[in-house]
Amino acid sequence: MAQIRLKNVSKRWNKFIGVDNFNLDIADQEFLVLLGPSGCGKTTTMRMIAGLEDITEGEIWIGDRMVNKLEPKDRDISMVFQSYGLYPNMTVYENIRFPLKVRKVPKEQHHERVMAASKMVELDDFLERRPAALSGGQRQRVALARAIVREPNAFLMDEPLSNLDAKLRVSTRAQIKNLHHTLKRTTVYVTHDQIEAMTLADRVVVMNKGVVQQVGTPMEIYDRPANTFVASFIGSPAMNLVSGSIENGVFSSDGIRIEGLPHRASGAVTLGFRAEDATLAEANGQIEAPIYTVELLGEATMLSMRVAGELVSIKVGKDYRAEIGELARIAIPASACHIFDQSTGARIE
Ligand code: ATP
Repeated sequence: MAQIRLKNVSKRWNKFIGVDNFNLDIADQEFLVLLGPSGCGKTTTMRMIAGLEDITEGEIWIGDRMVNKLEPKDRDISMVFQSYGLYPNMTVYENIRFPLKVRKVPKEQHHERVMAASKMVELDDFLERRPAALSGGQRQRVALARAIVREPNAFLMDEPLSNLDAKLRVSTRAQIKNLHHTLKRTTVYVTHDQIEAMTLADRVVVMNKGVVQQVGTPMEIYDRPANTFVASFIGSPAMNLVSGSIENGVFSSDGIRIEGLPHRASGAVTLGFRAEDATLAEANGQIEAPIYTVELLGEATMLSMRVAGELVSIKVGKDYRAEIGELARIAIPASACHIFDQSTGARIE
């Protein structure tokens, strides 16, 4: 069993706060993704779990052990990094076998375990090659196999796909998901890529400037972002956010007016809606503004329009055609709107 628990964990270097009071229970077998922009503290959090970084305050528990003072090698977790860290003078087979040697696993188990791990990542035809004779994707799979072969209780993965090209990223991502399904090991995965987070995670932790912004399933975070930071970080395109004011359930700003919103919110707010929740209006629309760009995506057409000083994205049918500068009328159902406090960014509705 490998639940991982972080209790009031902080990391400071002199006065700089890298991670601020992080609290989380990661369930046994869960796939947890730490997501956020560069410098938000994801890697530091993971390195503290691994034992590669001292923690300034708080406790980290793995299973029923408090591991603050435990050496990385005694924590029973395997790490996979974005740089593969393979030994260039060893073959693939020897690279995968290496952790077994270091850990003094009985020799008679080595061959079977190396073969099982290499099969899982489809490397069994490459075992005699050296890393220099492999593609980036194959090298990353050697790194994965080397983590798997130890049969640890948990995996920590730090941006393992970021050196791969777009197509390989998608296939290796699927392989990681499938491996997690097969091996059922607790996994903490760091990325700044929201699509990786959405597709891999059981739960996502969104971080910004060392502070946890929201913890939830991918759909919870997508459907009910806790604040404008999360709203603007998740989804492709990100949620449209426009400033305006709301009185008696009516939001208005330059080029946009939406009725029927909850009365609880009033005054200066930020209104959010997703590109796919907007449609072309048959008569008067909630947004009426000139088209700024038209982008054909193949499966849909993306319009952008300037509303309340912001460019907003509207996803319409693939056959829609219009010219830049033409007036478009867009309908946005009140039920698809998100309302955030304009000064704090926190969700109101
Ligand atoms: P990236 O996606 O760029 O790797 P990250 O979210 O993983 O970013 P961290 O590497 O965890 O970010 O760094 C968090 C913050 O802590 C950054 O602002 C970084 O500059 C700072 N930091 C990291 N290591 C140190 C250190 N040894 N001394 C001082 N500050 C540090």
